[in-house]
Amino acid sequence: MLLRMIDTPDSGASGPTWSFAGACEPADYPAVGVLGVPGVQHAGGTGRTLCGIRGRYLRRFLNLFEPQYPGSCHKCRALAEAAPSRPCGQERLHDLLLRDADDAPLRTDLLAALRRGASIAIWITGPTTDLQSHTRLDLMTEEAGPAAEALAAVGRSVTLARVEDADRQYLVVLPPDGRARIARGAVVPAPAAGR
Ligand SMILES: [Zn+2]
Repeated sequence: MLLRMIDTPDSGASGPTWSFAGACEPADYPAVGVLGVPGVQHAGGTGRTLCGIRGRYLRRFLNLFEPQYPGSCHKCRALAEAAPSRPCGQERLHDLLLRDADDAPLRTDLLAALRRGASIAIWITGPTTDLQSHTRLDLMTEEAGPAAEALAAVGRSVTLARVEDADRQYLVVLPPDGRARIARGAVVPAPAAGR
């Protein structure tokens, strides 16, 4: 299973004060230990800890590095706390769409929704066969065809995002080497006629 959850659903705290800057997330690091030095946790960087210990002596824990944990390395703590925060999910998706989706009315609307703090219900990368149930293509009433085609054309890994904005939701399908497709529909199915 290659599913990777990039963002968990958030509360979609939209409102007049919502902004990308105000929604920054603290930078996080995996916790790592050093062979022969039990009890001390370091912040994992790329192939080494933040404090500079090299990869082959390290083993990775499943939890994230917690600067305030009593057993945390002091140097890693200082560096982790000084690290710049990273942009929120909405800002990262916004910038990805600016780069990887063609300029079109749906993209314009989705970018505006993200700037208002619309909730990212799911943002996931994995094999298309595993992701079909997350698409809610049945609810998409605009541009559903191209999104379905992008899904069908990709036999391997694809990135999906669903964004919920008040009464509408957007589906983004991003093939690994293509342009992102955006579809839009209602959040809940329209009541069937005659029932
Ligand atoms: Zn350290």
